[in-house]
Amino acid sequence: AGRGRYEVFDFDLHAAEKARTSAEERLIAELGAALRQDQLDLHYQPIVDVLTDPDDPLAESGVYAVEALVRWNHPVRGLLPAGAFIDAALRGGLIGDLGAWVLTAACRQLRAWDDQLGEHAPGRIFVNVSTQELTDPLLPVRVADTLAATGVAAHRLTLEITESGMITSPEVTLGALAQIRDLGVQLAIDDFGTGYSSLSRLTQIPASTLKVDQSFTRDLAANRDAAAVVAAVLLLGHNLRRTVVVEGVEDAETLGGLHELGCTHVQGYFLSTPKHPDDLAGELVEQPWKALRTLQG
Ligand code: C2E
Ligand code: MG
Ligand code: MG
Ligand code: MG
Repeated sequence: AGRGRYEVFDFDLHAAEKARTSAEERLIAELGAALRQDQLDLHYQPIVDVLTDPDDPLAESGVYAVEALVRWNHPVRGLLPAGAFIDAALRGGLIGDLGAWVLTAACRQLRAWDDQLGEHAPGRIFVNVSTQELTDPLLPVRVADTLAATGVAAHRLTLEITESGMITSPEVTLGALAQIRDLGVQLAIDDFGTGYSSLSRLTQIPASTLKVDQSFTRDLAANRDAAAVVAAVLLLGHNLRRTVVVEGVEDAETLGGLHELGCTHVQGYFLSTPKHPDDLAGELVEQPWKALRTLQG
């Protein structure tokens, strides 16, 4: 009977695994078609420069940059966030094509905003690049070609990378990053604190920006340990002359707490959710973030 049970259990597991695999295979096939059929879109979320001194009349809250986040207008499931399909793209071998599409679309959007908004256009655009793309030896050339083709100045582009890939092939990745930096493109370490961060590696990666992961921000107000970690990262980053962006700011209380810790750059639903570029244009002109001055004063 014991043996019989195992066979039945194995069968269920197998069926579940098969269902999961075929669901993913379907998703991958659909995503491949979506790339060809122009079903992808980019939404943009501001990274806001918040004032550190409420008594300084010259300090202003404004948009430091916008981060491009890929979306899929799925014909049946509606608008899907990146989190719903990026892993499938990675496993299905589609990330190269997806990444190339994202980079071009983001650079084109920046130029469109320049034409449309003039001085109110975002100064910088941040684009996520997966670790897998970093191991492609052609990436630096592709970035250079995209900048040339779209006419975007290199210093306006920041690529967001994560630390995890540095472990498997640090030589390859650090080499690619150095080439990208030589173009004048900036780098940011995304999800900082969640990877296999070693502090020595931090000084090897030529990043100008650290983005503190939202898991630290979530319970900042309630959890003293989380606040201590954020405070330490802010201090470390600022001493290394990096810009430190805290992600996942969802309410005024959290922003207030960050303010007290000396935080200068924030991103999160409280400031703005990721938005379609046409919907963000009005906000970029109106700069509602300036009202944060009174909130914090
Ligand atoms: P990420 O780069 O760390 O982006 C932050 C994610 O958190 C985004 O989800 C964003 O919509 C969400 N978010 C922003 N503010 C808040 C907040 O205040 N609270 C909460 N709870 N969430 C917030 P999304 O768009 O689903 O992206 C998930 C991840 O997928 C990204 O994490 C990034 O690693 C990856 N990704 C997104 N777009 C691209 C892309 O174009 N290429 C590549 N390779 N990866 C991408
Ligand atoms: Mg990111
Ligand atoms: Mg992040
Ligand atoms: Mg993340």
